[in-house]
Amino acid sequence: MRRVSILGATGSVGQSTLDLIRRDRDAYRVVALTGGANVAQLASDARAFGAELAVTADAARLDDLRDALAGSGVEAAAGRAALNEAAARPADWVMSAIVGAAGLAPGLAALGTGATLALANKESLVTAGPLVMAAARASGARILPVDSEHSAIFQALAGEEMDAVTRVIITASGGAFRDWPLERLATATVAEASCHPNWDMGQRITIDSASMFNKALEMIEAREFFGLDPARIEVLIHPQSLVHALVGFSDGALMAHVGPPDMRHAIGYALNWPARRALPVAALDLAAEGVLEFRAPDEVRAPALRLARLVMEEGGLAGAIFNAAKERALDHFIAGRLGFMDMAPLVEAVLERMLAAPGGADGDDLTLDRVASADHLARNCADAVALDITRRG
Ligand code: NAD
Ligand code: MG
Repeated sequence: MRRVSILGATGSVGQSTLDLIRRDRDAYRVVALTGGANVAQLASDARAFGAELAVTADAARLDDLRDALAGSGVEAAAGRAALNEAAARPADWVMSAIVGAAGLAPGLAALGTGATLALANKESLVTAGPLVMAAARASGARILPVDSEHSAIFQALAGEEMDAVTRVIITASGGAFRDWPLERLATATVAEASCHPNWDMGQRITIDSASMFNKALEMIEAREFFGLDPARIEVLIHPQSLVHALVGFSDGALMAHVGPPDMRHAIGYALNWPARRALPVAALDLAAEGVLEFRAPDEVRAPALRLARLVMEEGGLAGAIFNAAKERALDHFIAGRLGFMDMAPLVEAVLERMLAAPGGADGDDLTLDRVASADHLARNCADAVALDITRRG
């Protein structure tokens, strides 16, 4: 039996992962499940899967979790240290599906044990790519990408030489607003931004898809995971979300990964790797689809893509600063304090201020502490800039 843990089990990726495990129940032993505020879901899954341990990130909910697990034999714990301990429990395979920079430390804890890390939490690579990759090398752990585009690239690269790769193209659906006129974007509401045309995902990544910040994070994620020169990373708008990524080779061939927009494909690929096994994913009927469209992104509508290039050029702590500012911009948008089109200028202002400071993004001797401190400063800076924007507003 494979011992598996799921960090962020109550979220969209976490629930899809449990769905796959449920279908082949006898093949797995569930070690740890973690969640946030939704302790009822966490406790019910921990009972159903006979987990050894359930952890809520929210320390104030420990009693609720204990009550919900009473008599089940599942151990309950709460808080950040408990999350890291859950991640470090011996397991063969750990799913990293916490949203945001909060996923970094638990992911590193899992890598430290040598477990295979299925990485959905793109923020780990954006904020601390070199640290994450070094942790895997040090323990001999393998990281398997779960973000659909990166899983697609990984699959297209199987058996290929990296030296022959000339370009990597990540596709983007364009999110909720791809057909909206630019003028209308300023008035976009949270409810409107939270509806994805093709994918069913957590609210934060859905809004990041509408703003294209998700694609910006994914460009950086691709650079860090595959060690690509930023100039070789391209983005194409592809409204159908059927081609997830393409890899170009020196002989001119482009290998595309095509599949329905269902995360259980990428999750299942990481779960079964290196084998391919049947997955509950609908077969694609290309004749019924009819057309696959591609177009270049418009950087006026999607300034996040330009910022991603700046971050990749800068390196070091720029990714941590970028991600933290983006997370706060999103918090302010969700809370109704900022408009949809205020998010990118806010992130750009934070990058400008922090990169201008002496040693601003200097990433020599990157450590978790330095990343955490850059993250903290960037969040404070983002809050100050948000206040300026609201006052001017
Ligand atoms: P989600 O919001 O649905 O779930 C997030 C999970 O993280 C929940 O279990 C929540 O309780 C937990 N969590 C939230 N804040 C936390 C904190 N501070 N500390 C510890 N745990 C916390 O998110 P999601 O859509 O499943 O996305 C998870 C990750 O996977 C993100 O990094 C996202 O970018 C990435 N991803 C998601 C999809 C998708 O289809 N949803 C696709 C590709 C990549
Ligand atoms: Mg993706």
